[in-house]
Amino acid sequence: MARLRFKALEALSMRKKVEFKLPSLKISDYFGQNAFGVPQMRSALAPEVFEKVVHVSHGKRVDKDTADAVAAAVKTWAMNRGVTHYTHWFQPLTGATAEKHDTFFDSTKGIEEFKGSALVQQEPDASSFPSGGIRSTFEARGYTAWDPSSPIFIWDTTLCIPTIFVSFTGEALDYKAPLLKAIEAIDRASTKVCRLFDRAVANVTPTLGWEQEYFVVDRALYNARPDLVMCGRTVFGHNPARGQQLDDHYFGTIPTRVQEFMKEFEVEAHKLGIPIRTRHNEVAPSQFEAAPMFEEANVATDHNQLLRDIMDRVAFKHDLKVLLHEKPFAGVNGNGKHNNWSLMTDTGVNLLQPTSSARENLLFLTFFVVSIKAVYEHADLLRASIASFGNDFRLGANEAPPAIISVFIGQTLSNVLDELEKNGNVKIEKGDNLYMKLGIDQIPEIIMDNTDRNRTSPFAFTGNKFEFRAVGSESNVSNPMMVLNLIVADQLNKFYSEVTKLTNKGKDRRLAIIEILRKYIKESKSIRFEGDGYSEAWVKEAEKRGLSNVRDTPRALDFYLSDKSTQLFSSNKILNEKEVKARHEIMIENYIKKAQIDSRVMGDLALNHIIPTAIAYQNKLIQNAKGLKELGVDNKEIISYIEEISQHISALRKNVNEMIEERKKINKIDDSRKRAIAYCDDIRHKYFDKIRYSVDKLELFIDDEDWPLVKYRELLFLK
Ligand code: ADP
Ligand code: MG
Repeated sequence: MARLRFKALEALSMRKKVEFKLPSLKISDYFGQNAFGVPQMRSALAPEVFEKVVHVSHGKRVDKDTADAVAAAVKTWAMNRGVTHYTHWFQPLTGATAEKHDTFFDSTKGIEEFKGSALVQQEPDASSFPSGGIRSTFEARGYTAWDPSSPIFIWDTTLCIPTIFVSFTGEALDYKAPLLKAIEAIDRASTKVCRLFDRAVANVTPTLGWEQEYFVVDRALYNARPDLVMCGRTVFGHNPARGQQLDDHYFGTIPTRVQEFMKEFEVEAHKLGIPIRTRHNEVAPSQFEAAPMFEEANVATDHNQLLRDIMDRVAFKHDLKVLLHEKPFAGVNGNGKHNNWSLMTDTGVNLLQPTSSARENLLFLTFFVVSIKAVYEHADLLRASIASFGNDFRLGANEAPPAIISVFIGQTLSNVLDELEKNGNVKIEKGDNLYMKLGIDQIPEIIMDNTDRNRTSPFAFTGNKFEFRAVGSESNVSNPMMVLNLIVADQLNKFYSEVTKLTNKGKDRRLAIIEILRKYIKESKSIRFEGDGYSEAWVKEAEKRGLSNVRDTPRALDFYLSDKSTQLFSSNKILNEKEVKARHEIMIENYIKKAQIDSRVMGDLALNHIIPTAIAYQNKLIQNAKGLKELGVDNKEIISYIEEISQHISALRKNVNEMIEERKKINKIDDSRKRAIAYCDDIRHKYFDKIRYSVDKLELFIDDEDWPLVKYRELLFLK
């Protein structure tokens, strides 16, 4: 096995950078060339067809004639670019994307064909996708339906059509269908509230700008680590002498092989219309980040999924491997995915952007305060929306926000809210400047004071948007985005009815708005936290405030099933009770599978790789001890060395065997939630660290020449 490690290292030492030539000096020459988005539609479609397609609302079907017209135009556009196949591209609850390719070519007619009906709907065999018990096998059918709000795109020689995936009985089987419904809900609710201020607003769109962190390692080294291949993370590995303590990686220069890889995947992304803008090194060695310009939330979500595929395929060409796991390496930073979120009106106003006009600031404050109140009301559901086996390794690990949801808003806005709360009662006389009296006349337009930035908050206001920082790097952002948009939509609806109730009684509209905002500020105070979110003190303080701190996924997922959450999902028509239960079941099963795989890989590596290596090395030492004895030289030191290795070997064997026995017991538990909790408490928390401890100790003892697993210093520092 050590042979594999050295072969991999040899392969690495022979690597040359795979040079990538930019297709053109200007990104604008090729940006979006492989996407059939709004500009392409405008030029390829008749004006009346174009109008119908761009205005079709989320998740709604287009009529047959429109579909046929679009299909014909798309086919021509695609075939001119060498496309031979098409597929519906969807996001089943596996977390990956799915596709099934069909040719345009119809052999019975001998021509290429693509009808509107094929654009609009397909029926992939749904039986092998998770449904959480929604479908029994005899009704395994589901269908995919075109989502016209996300651009069709070309990947290689296939036309990919973004779709939702639902069962024939109408239940959502994917991430996208509920996201689209939540986006519609927040559009309706925000528009209603905006119109209390400005009758010109007809539409509001949630925006999302994600920041994706990832590691890049050499592919040969990756292949020589079974744990990376199977689990996406290293289950063993002693920390290198040098980790991130020098702080020399962040924003440092990018290694040349990685640089070429980045150039290429960015070009591919740009061709697909993904507006990647930022690239830089992250905190840990070999860690990087990619971030686009923000987009409409639905498109941004698709683009995040798509970018992950692109990165993977491009990395292959460069003999590299991208690691998206939340915690690929112990002891150095993990990967997160920050979700920057805001709301944009069709009149071009960012509703979370303070302005210099006091009147407009009341609009800003409304959306700002309602968002905070929504997070306060549904912090638990928000926590559940980011729960995953991988994210459990990262949340609260002193590098990422804890599992406690809180909101950071900065000093300036804290003062504004305090003022508003305090002054809200003042008597307003005729001729008074209401805004001045309330102390909201002078909110600075720009609140992006960097000294004010709190990196330890899971949900922070950063000047003109909220940044949800606790999202896992590997997960589909649909889930947290669905929940966030839904909870704010729900709160906006409540806000609207509360205000209307007051105005119906004759209260001045502005005063009514302020009254409700004051109430929300008071009620949601405990969710606001400006201090160090990584500190132990905060954990205690949060407990006093009654905020939840649920550290593990199986328990966090319970929040999906609470009465409050099911009520929220069903009253807003996002997911019915059956769908919520099914989703919960899928996530629980996913947790169990991941824990099981990690546990098996740990066991196998320990028994088949580590222990044999340790024994072989021990034998060498025994020979040495014998030799010394024959020569009459003191061999005590060597013997104690041998004993120490023996102790680690026995501990390792004992723990692995116990873990295997425990697993057998747990696998018999019928109730999946209880099984997941048992995996969490009795496998993951009871054995993972113990087993790792012995292996990492042995790594320190055993001759580097014999050690079978590629070491951290090699994975992290060699490229
Ligand atoms: P940083 O947080 O690294 O200081 P920026 O403030 O420039 O950087 O923005 C970070 C991310 O926020 C970017 O990915 C950007 O697209 C996104 N972003 C900026 N404005 C908005 C907005 N109105 N809605 C959603 N995302 C936004
Ligand atoms: Mg950020």
